[in-house]
Amino acid sequence: MVSSGPDASQPESLTRRRFLQLLTGGGRQQPSPSEPEERRAWLTLVGLCHACGACAKACPKEALRLLKKDGRFLLAFQQDLCDGCGLCLKTCVSGCLTLSRRDEPLEQNAVILAEGALLVCRRCRGATAVVVDGYCPFCARAVGLTS
Ligand code: SF4
Ligand code: SF4
Repeated sequence: MVSSGPDASQPESLTRRRFLQLLTGGGRQQPSPSEPEERRAWLTLVGLCHACGACAKACPKEALRLLKKDGRFLLAFQQDLCDGCGLCLKTCVSGCLTLSRRDEPLEQNAVILAEGALLVCRRCRGATAVVVDGYCPFCARAVGLTS
């Protein structure tokens, strides 16, 4: 059975605001007055994020950040750093990211794409947001539970 962590509305020791402060370091670069076409790229989460961090590692612009802390995770997107290259989409193991164009003014704040509780994989002991019979998605595939 596929399951994810407890609902994000449960009491948290770390607030969303604090999470974002940690992700952005408290300060950000300012967008330029005239934004080129590729900076209109907008990332949306359409499926279940595993909190694996592959997209954030792949992003050459650091427009995606994954933070894991106190048993919770947060994946944030910063539009004014994104150049629309699409590398994150190619890297995402669950195929849960989509890229589109957004004509509204460039977003100046980091946007939370996913957040929630982390579980521990019974095989690799790694932190994951999704388990299949107690296994993280990578280990579930390795032991033949999924293809
Ligand atoms: S499209 Fe490219 S720059 Fe934008 S978040 Fe994805 S990897 Fe980063
Ligand atoms: S969006 Fe995809 S690649 Fe990024 S952390 Fe979530 S599952 Fe991993």
